[in-house]
Amino acid sequence: MCGIVGYTGPREAYPVILKGLKRLEYRGYDSAGVALLNNGLKVYKKKGKVADLEESLIGQDVHANIGIGHTRWATHGEPNDRNAHPHLSASGRLAMIHNGIIENYALIKKELLSKGYTFKSDTDTEVLLNFIDEIQHHNECSLEEAVRVALKRVVGAYCILLIDKEDPHTIIAARKGSPLVIGIGKGEHFLASDATPIIEYTKEVVYVNDYELAIVRPDELILKNLGNEKITPYVTKLDMDLAAIEKGGYEHFMLKEIFEQPKTIYDCLRGRLDVANGTITMAGVENYMEQLKNAPRIIIIACGTSWHAGLVAEYVIEDLCRIPVEVEYASEFRYRNPVVNKGDVIIAISQSGETADTLVAIEKAKEQGAIIFGVVNAVGSSIARASHAGAYTHSGPEIGVASTKAFTGQLAVLNMIALKIAKAKGTISDERYKNLLGELEAVPEKVETILENAAAVKAIAEKYKDSSDALFLGRGYNFPVALEGALKLKEISYIHAEGYPAAEMKHGPIALVTEILPVVFVATKDSYHEKVVSNMQEIKARKGRVISIITEGDTISPTLSDDIFAVPPADEVIAPMLSVIPLQLLSYYVGTAKGYNVDMPRNLAKSVTVE
Ligand code: GLU
Repeated sequence: MCGIVGYTGPREAYPVILKGLKRLEYRGYDSAGVALLNNGLKVYKKKGKVADLEESLIGQDVHANIGIGHTRWATHGEPNDRNAHPHLSASGRLAMIHNGIIENYALIKKELLSKGYTFKSDTDTEVLLNFIDEIQHHNECSLEEAVRVALKRVVGAYCILLIDKEDPHTIIAARKGSPLVIGIGKGEHFLASDATPIIEYTKEVVYVNDYELAIVRPDELILKNLGNEKITPYVTKLDMDLAAIEKGGYEHFMLKEIFEQPKTIYDCLRGRLDVANGTITMAGVENYMEQLKNAPRIIIIACGTSWHAGLVAEYVIEDLCRIPVEVEYASEFRYRNPVVNKGDVIIAISQSGETADTLVAIEKAKEQGAIIFGVVNAVGSSIARASHAGAYTHSGPEIGVASTKAFTGQLAVLNMIALKIAKAKGTISDERYKNLLGELEAVPEKVETILENAAAVKAIAEKYKDSSDALFLGRGYNFPVALEGALKLKEISYIHAEGYPAAEMKHGPIALVTEILPVVFVATKDSYHEKVVSNMQEIKARKGRVISIITEGDTISPTLSDDIFAVPPADEVIAPMLSVIPLQLLSYYVGTAKGYNVDMPRNLAKSVTVE
C-alpha cells in the first residue's frame, strides 16, 4: 500500500509525478503529496485523492526537475493534511516519502524527543526521517551513510525516497519489504512502487531488492547493499503496454477488468494448453515435478481473494491429484509455529506478488525446507523472485482495488498445475484429463457469453441494492465462490455479506433469514446439486429471497428462486471460473447503483505491503 513516485532528469518533474500518482492511486487514497526541489524545497500535500492535490496546486509554482510524490494508505495517524507525505525533517533540509511500517518507531521517537526533536505528524515515517537527520548531524556524514546507519536499526518494512535541499539532483532510495522499481531513461531516472508510472517513458527497469540502497541522479544509478558495497543493477525489459493500464472507454477499471476476462483467461492458457496433443506446458511445474508429485502435503498460502482461489485449488488438487492440501491465511501462518515437513510444497498465491504477509510466510516456510511455488500476476514482483519456481497468471495489470480478472487467472493456473500433477501421478483417467483440457480451453468463450448478459445482473442489482445484509451459499467447488461473492459485495457496496457452505447455514446463519434477506445461491450443476436445491427449499420455506446462479437448462432451481442468472454448463472443476463472473458483476452494479467509487472502495487499497 501507498504509492511512491520519484523523478530526476531534464523534464518537468511535477507532471511526471502527478500522472504516476494517479496510476498508483489503487495503492491508497487517504492523502497525496509532492516535494519539489528548485531553488529550495517545496512540499505540497493534502488529504484526499490525487485530484484534490492537483486542484489545490493550480496557480502554484511547481517548476522543478527533481521531485518525489506519495499517495497514502494510512497506518500511523489518521488521514489528514498533517500526516500526509512527504514529510520534512526538523532541519527543513530533507523531504521523505515512505511505504511501509516502522515497527520500532515508538522507541526511536522517545530517543529523539529526549534530544529535543519535535514532531508535526503522528506518523512512523517522520520518526524515521528525523532519525536519519539526527544521525547525519551527529556523525557528520553523508545522507547516504546516515540512511544506511538508520536502516540497520529499523524493524519493519519500508520503501523510502529522500531528497536533500543541498543536493538538487539526487534521490536516495531504499527498500525492505515494500516494492521499488527504477526506470532508466536517457539522462533521467524514474522511481515508483510499480512499473505503471514508468512505462510511457522507458521499458528498461531495475527491480530493487530488499536491503538495497539506490543513489539516483539523472545520468547515474548506483546500487549498494547496507554494507556499502556496490551491486551491479540488473536491468530488465518491461513487458506491458500503456493501454493495459488505462480505462479504455469503461467507466471504471473494475468493469474493464471484469470484461477483459475472456482475453486474460485466454492469455493465461495460451502457449500452455494444447488440447490436440493433450499437453500442458509449464516450465516451473516441469522443473519441480518430482517434488510436486511426491509432496506429502501441499500448503497454499494467500490472503483475500487469492485465498479463495486457494480454497478452490484445495478441492481440485485433492480430487485430481490425491495430495492432501491445506489452505492458510498468510497472516496466521507466519505467526504460528506451523509444521512444515521436508518435501512439503508451498503454493503462494498473490496478484501483486508484494503481499507482505504472504512474502514473510513463504520466507519462513523456505527456512524450514519447503519448496515454494509462486502463482503471481505481477511479473518480477517480490514473491515471484522469492519462489523456487512458479507460474504467472498473465492477467495484465489489475488496477481496480477489488480483484476480478486476477482471480480467474489464478484459477486457470491452479487448474493447469493440478492437471499436470494428476497426469504425471496417474491419478486421473485419460478420458477425464482430455475432457478437462477441452473444458479449460472453452472457458474464455463461455465467459464471453456470460458477459453478454451483464444487463440481467444489473437488473438484479437494482432490485437488491438497498439491502443491508446478504448471504452467499455454495457447496463443494462453489463454496469458495460463495465466499468470494460475499467479499466482493462487502468491499464494493459496503453491504454486510457472509459466505457460507450451503449446508452449514443450518448451524447458525439461517437465524438471519427473513423475507427481506437476499440469499445468493451458487448453484451450478455438479455432484451436489440436489443437496443445494434442498438448501434452497429450506430458505424458501422461511420466506428468504433467493437469487440463484444456475446452469443453463436447470428447470428446478428457477422454481425456488426469486431471481436467477444462468451460466453455460461446465465440469464442476471448471465451474468456479464461470459462476464467479455474475457475482463480480453483481457487486459492481450494486456499488455503482449506490453511487460509490468502486475503483477506490472505502478504507481499502491494493497490493497490501503492510501486515
Ligand atoms: N506508515 C506510513 C503512514 O502511515 C506509510 C503507510 C503505508 O505505506 O501504507 O503514513
